[in-house]
Amino acid sequence: MRIFVTGGAGFIGSAVIRHIIENTDNTVINIDKLTYAGNLNNLTEIESNSRYSFFQADICDSQQMIKLIHEFEPNAILHLAAESHVDKSITGSSEFIHTNILGTYTLLEAAREYFNNISDSNKLKFRFHHISTDEVYGDLDDFESLFHEDSPYKPSSPYSATKASSDHLIRSWNRTYGLPTLITNCSNNYGPYQFPEKLIPLAILKALKGEQIPIYGDGLQIRDWLFVEDHAKAIYEVLSRGKIGGTYNIGGHNEKRNIDVIKKICSILEKLAPRKPEGVIKYDDLISFVDDRPGHDGRYAIDASKMEKELGWKPNETFDSGIEKTVVWYLNNKEWCESALKG
Ligand code: NAD
Repeated sequence: MRIFVTGGAGFIGSAVIRHIIENTDNTVINIDKLTYAGNLNNLTEIESNSRYSFFQADICDSQQMIKLIHEFEPNAILHLAAESHVDKSITGSSEFIHTNILGTYTLLEAAREYFNNISDSNKLKFRFHHISTDEVYGDLDDFESLFHEDSPYKPSSPYSATKASSDHLIRSWNRTYGLPTLITNCSNNYGPYQFPEKLIPLAILKALKGEQIPIYGDGLQIRDWLFVEDHAKAIYEVLSRGKIGGTYNIGGHNEKRNIDVIKKICSILEKLAPRKPEGVIKYDDLISFVDDRPGHDGRYAIDASKMEKELGWKPNETFDSGIEKTVVWYLNNKEWCESALKG
């Protein structure tokens, strides 16, 4: 397969590309604008592979998308490029509207124009796979319900509203134009190479510097944590064997309260980094509760049983194994963290 990946210099996109290049014989072109969140150092392990190439471009640039798709002649488009940080969407939503909605529309139109002009045998193989989030379903107000593939959309933040919009565009391009699409909605990812603005890497780096670890509100919000390498495998399974027009929820079976995630990180650091910054007695003394995020969802939880029943996928990592791997990675890759933060 020839796979056209957007947003491949980001956290999840780079994990997907590493997985594909290291474990399959597919060819990948990575299209990324390289915003503050994009980092080509995420791909050093595979960048010299002859089946990998990179092109810097904005998915909102229609002419460029049409040209690149025609030149590369993909069998599949894996669309991950997005503005992805909820806090940033609250302080400035314009980039989110632009990239997540207009960018997805631009890419869909470029893909449709290409799809209409390929041979019937290539049409049968072609897929447009959109990577989305469980945040489109809003939050759950009890401790038992789960998000299913047909749960109603109820986004709470500008970020999740733009992702919901892009999901609707994808489904309508399938129904109206027959574009062979797939959608995956996943829970919160964590693991190596995550930009240190998100909860887990932020907490690790703040603790190592002896700075306060901020946690929103009472810290009781529940998320279902998915190790990024498990997610990368799931995406490839859906791309290879998912049903056209289908939606797949991907979760880690790891529901945790934010406060417990931070306490777990602190306890791993006590073991692996016992020499603390001056003045710090215990890492968890650094935990500091700050004003809650407006519109903050209480609980997300995914029913990922369709992934297991239809495609035989389930996550390999438990939260305990995945979070330990993640902390070890950040301890061993301080240079990557500094270069990512410097842009
Ligand atoms: P990320 O912010 O780490 O990476 C996004 C990438 O997209 C970056 O490399 C950035 O440079 C690129 N990009 C942004 N705007 C672009 C544009 N206009 N044109 C081309 N490239 C552009 O995000 P991530 O965490 O890797 O998330 C990837 C996808 O998965 C997103 O669509 C996100 O909504 C979705 N998702 C993420 C999570 C999570 O926990 N991280 C959970 C559910 C869904």
